[in-house]
Amino acid sequence: MSAFDSFLVVDWSGGNDKGPRPCADAIWACVARGGRSEEPLYLRNRQVAETWLADFFETERAAGRRVLAGLDFPFGYPTGFCRALTGTDNPLALWDWFETQIEDAPESNNRFDIAGRINREHGGRGPFWANALKRDIEGLPRNKQDYHNPFTDKRRAETKAPGAFTCWQMAGAGAVGSQVMMGLPVLARLRQRFGAAAWPFEPLDADIALVEVWPSLTLGKEPAGVIRDAWQVSETARALSLLTPDALSRMLSVDAPEEGWILGLGCEEELRAAASLPPVLTNSCFALPPGVHWTPVADALAHLRSNLAPVTARKRVAVASATGLVTAEPVEAQRSNPPLPNTAVDGYGFTGGREEGVHRLPLATQRAAAGDAPVDLPQGTAMRVLTGAALPAGVDTVVLQEDVTVTDGFISFRGPVRTGSNTRKAGEDVVAGDIAVPQGQRIGAPEAALLAATGVQHVTVHDQLRVAVLSTGAELVEAGDTAGDGQIFDANRPMLLELIRRMGHSPVDMGRVDDDRAALRARLDAAAEQADVILTSGGASAGDEDHVSALLEETGTMTMWRIAVKPGRPLALGLWDRAPVFGLPGNPVAALVCALVFARPAIAVLAGETWPEPQGFDVPAAFHKSKKEGRSEYLRARLRNGAAEVFPSEGSGRISGLAWADGLVELPMEAAEIAPGTSVRYIPFSSFGL
Ligand code: AMP
Ligand code: MG
Repeated sequence: MSAFDSFLVVDWSGGNDKGPRPCADAIWACVARGGRSEEPLYLRNRQVAETWLADFFETERAAGRRVLAGLDFPFGYPTGFCRALTGTDNPLALWDWFETQIEDAPESNNRFDIAGRINREHGGRGPFWANALKRDIEGLPRNKQDYHNPFTDKRRAETKAPGAFTCWQMAGAGAVGSQVMMGLPVLARLRQRFGAAAWPFEPLDADIALVEVWPSLTLGKEPAGVIRDAWQVSETARALSLLTPDALSRMLSVDAPEEGWILGLGCEEELRAAASLPPVLTNSCFALPPGVHWTPVADALAHLRSNLAPVTARKRVAVASATGLVTAEPVEAQRSNPPLPNTAVDGYGFTGGREEGVHRLPLATQRAAAGDAPVDLPQGTAMRVLTGAALPAGVDTVVLQEDVTVTDGFISFRGPVRTGSNTRKAGEDVVAGDIAVPQGQRIGAPEAALLAATGVQHVTVHDQLRVAVLSTGAELVEAGDTAGDGQIFDANRPMLLELIRRMGHSPVDMGRVDDDRAALRARLDAAAEQADVILTSGGASAGDEDHVSALLEETGTMTMWRIAVKPGRPLALGLWDRAPVFGLPGNPVAALVCALVFARPAIAVLAGETWPEPQGFDVPAAFHKSKKEGRSEYLRARLRNGAAEVFPSEGSGRISGLAWADGLVELPMEAAEIAPGTSVRYIPFSSFGL
């Protein structure tokens, strides 16, 4: 579980009230959870902001959510300043000092006077400078002419953050001085009222952490037409909420006791990478409607389809490296195919079709071959053209060379010949600007050809989905080892690993785990670390040794899916850390059927693919079966002489039947009397991507 639940980022302002209309350079705040930002909030002045912050903390505390609140101004000053003002090195004493000194109202405050007073007490020519008021303030220089700073200009953090401003400048573009002075009193009050922890000065054991952030550390330019501050708080909050708890705690463990630090400084790449991640799945993504006892297959699938979303990051890659990956955006054709009209055959080109009868045309001396730049056709002639050649200007019709006689510089052939015969129009396949490959498509051999032909150089794709495969059960022995009495070989893992590979994902072998809760917990932790999705088999029902469901139950995200399907006992679906877990039944037949029917399409969606619908065929049955009402059934089947045979035993432990079969016969919920010749739905394994 993430150490924090809600991530707030505030863009602070040291200026006066900005009025009722949302505008730049005001205070903006945004909350994000699990990679989803709320609408950024415009706060017209600090009084409004402080009230809003207090309300927000109250609400989050009442809801039991831990808050990381990031504010974009320095939480401390360069070394020595704190002692000079408060007699201690404790920056929080400085917060409280400013809290007692600063007077703040929407239209006026005493920040320049305070800056002047501090300067007068420390030499009179610094550390603060710049004054936005009309009146002069004794000791506060308007510019840097006579300026002298008794402290260092920047904190250590600022020297490492290109573009960061000094906290001594009180006015003008980029002035951070006013923001700190007008921000610390607010933080001091919030800290005291809520017992919030000020980072990095205090241990973060409170349920509210106040941290210093700086959106410009990682963000580039905002998209056109949006207010920069609003966009920055939203993007920063979103990125922070996507960091793994580990990464965040690494970023939070810094040693900057007096000056403070900028969160993420030195870890910019990691922050950027987090920002490219999709939102985390919500805890309720697997929650079925309450009260439903046996869920029909179609309802279970519809639920998965509408509640899941891609979980992998997107990246832009050269087309050559994109094969096997899934498009994260529709890909536009950069060039038409064909780019120019060309000839589909070897033959002779001329202008216009010809009527019935014999036609004779003088043959031009040039010829057009594939790759040649188009030439002009001399009026009234025909020209030799070869397959793939761009049509010479004037040619719109081609006659096949086999239908032509060439003598003494003339061709003759028999009509009729339609205008346009044997030619291909420019863009008749794809026009530049058309969508060549839609979003959610895995780039296979055909797509590779299309992208190449349409001049596409780069595509945005999803990272390959990593799927952890884990077997559970005290009875399991590694295939190939020696099995003792009472032990069986782990058959599910090789099966599921190969299934994942065939589906185009990256399998991560997490081995076997005993029926031991602590061991399974540790292995699930490792799996969530190494993979995006976890596929387990065994231990998924509600028995004493069903530890997968028991552990998922503890996370509060699990739903036991009682699907009206045979084979298949309950499926345990939940989230471990952030990774969706598909807890498949242990019986290999049930494990494969559930993996193909439920896990496969769900995992495809997690990988960014469009929901894959397996293609089935209605074929005559070659078997007898009396089927009861109330659940769907999947029988191991194969096609022979155009009819579907089924494996003689429906036993769910009969692994030989899986290898015997080429596909599944799918029988719907209704009762049925099936005899040879009855139409049944056969789905070949290839339709499931096997
Ligand atoms: P479970 O779901 O753990 O109660 O297991 C149901 C049945 O499937 C038991 O007979 C297990 O021995 C068997 N089983 C569980 N996991 C595997 C596996 N990985 N390979 C083969 N059989 C298994
Ligand atoms: Mg078991």
